[in-house]
Amino acid sequence: MRATVDAAIVGAGIIGASIAERILARRPSWRVVLLEREEAPGTGETRWATGGVRQQFGTEANVRLSQISLPIFELFEDHYDVDPGFRQHGYLFVTAEDERLRTMDAQLATQQRLGVATERLDRAEMKKRCPPLFTDDLAGGNFNPKDGSIQPAALLQAYVDWFRRRGGALATEAPVTALERGPSSWTLVTPRAEYETEHVVLACGPQTRAVARLAGLDVPANPFARQVFVAEAHAAIPPEIPLTVDLDTGWYVHAQRSELLLGGTDKQNRPLAGVAVAEVDWSGVDAIFSAAAHRMPVLADAKIVRAYAGARTLTPDHHPILGPVASHPGLYLAAGLSGHGIMHSPAVGILLAEWVTEGAPRTWDARPLTLERFASHNALDETAAF
Ligand SMILES: Cc1cc2nc3c(=O)[nH]c(=O)nc-3n(C[C@H](O)[C@H](O)[C@H](O)COP(=O)(O)OP(=O)(O)OC[C@H]3O[C@@H](n4cnc5c(N)ncnc54)[C@H](O)[C@@H]3O)c2cc1C
Repeated sequence: MRATVDAAIVGAGIIGASIAERILARRPSWRVVLLEREEAPGTGETRWATGGVRQQFGTEANVRLSQISLPIFELFEDHYDVDPGFRQHGYLFVTAEDERLRTMDAQLATQQRLGVATERLDRAEMKKRCPPLFTDDLAGGNFNPKDGSIQPAALLQAYVDWFRRRGGALATEAPVTALERGPSSWTLVTPRAEYETEHVVLACGPQTRAVARLAGLDVPANPFARQVFVAEAHAAIPPEIPLTVDLDTGWYVHAQRSELLLGGTDKQNRPLAGVAVAEVDWSGVDAIFSAAAHRMPVLADAKIVRAYAGARTLTPDHHPILGPVASHPGLYLAAGLSGHGIMHSPAVGILLAEWVTEGAPRTWDARPLTLERFASHNALDETAAF
């Protein structure tokens, strides 16, 4: 089969689905195809995400992506008719190190300048917000009550459903195996069909680097294993406490209604070869427990019931690579979401849809996030990554 479409999105993870849905929302008459190599959407990185949502970042770019996304999460049910389980329990970042606190001062200043309601907490305030926290050695903490968590699967389902309701075509078991540029359009080859289109968006998560190579393009986005240890709920750690991150070790605890998620000490330990699945490295539990035992001593007797590991595709500056590629007209990237793909999925969908349908991002000038930033030495620097 050969088809001509107005836009083809490669990869039906949270990012591709959001973009596809937003393109059709802007251009209801367009023929848009969402191509997914697996049997179902959301089986890549998206499957593993724990759903943290925060505005606390160190750069304007990441804060803006969060700010565009937040109202969509707050009004998600009105817009998509799906309850995304958004809980605004806040995020609390803490440090025992004075030097790191200076970095957190800078993050706080950036966020407050942009209108984010993050506040600096002293020890007593941190203890009040998060009673199980050991605070005696802490230099300070940053807290934002609007941060929280959401259910990634509910978001994905809503994006895919609305894309299809608007007439979009989802093709599963449709891996793109070739990507060829003609005089004014692209041809995408899959085993059962070929598509010709003026606009191609690559949103292939950990495989983006390999897929972009089909078009002769190098994209510096590399997957690393990220694992989560799941512990039984603990009476001393109620689900209302903020998602708490010890920036000195990266360790975090994310209290959910029926269990606790523990992780964060493996930021860039294990590179993966372009895949979304990783083996659990049980030796990592030692780092989790030693960080936990210090920062939240009640966790010393936590019962780990299971663990899982997925990929997070990181870029060198922990910002996504978004937008058109100057050297490849008609080709757009939405890749390297750097552990923030769920929380930034509405913004990325909106901005890419604007780029594809109108030639420029309108909601916020996201041009600092294009691929060209690496060649022109304009990479950004995210200090609030863990
Ligand atoms: C343990 C863990 C916890 C996380 N926690 C959070 C969190 O709290 N908050 C947050 O915001 N983010 C979190 N993340 C990150 C988040 O999961 C990712 O940023 C997000 O899922 C990236 O989505 P994506 O659509 O870019 O990639 P993916 O979900 O991997 O989607 C890419 C899709 O492209 C498809 N594909 C690949 N190659 C081809 C091809 N040739 N042809 C067709 N299709 C193809 C794949 O099969 C896949 O379905 C976490 C990640 C992990 C692993």
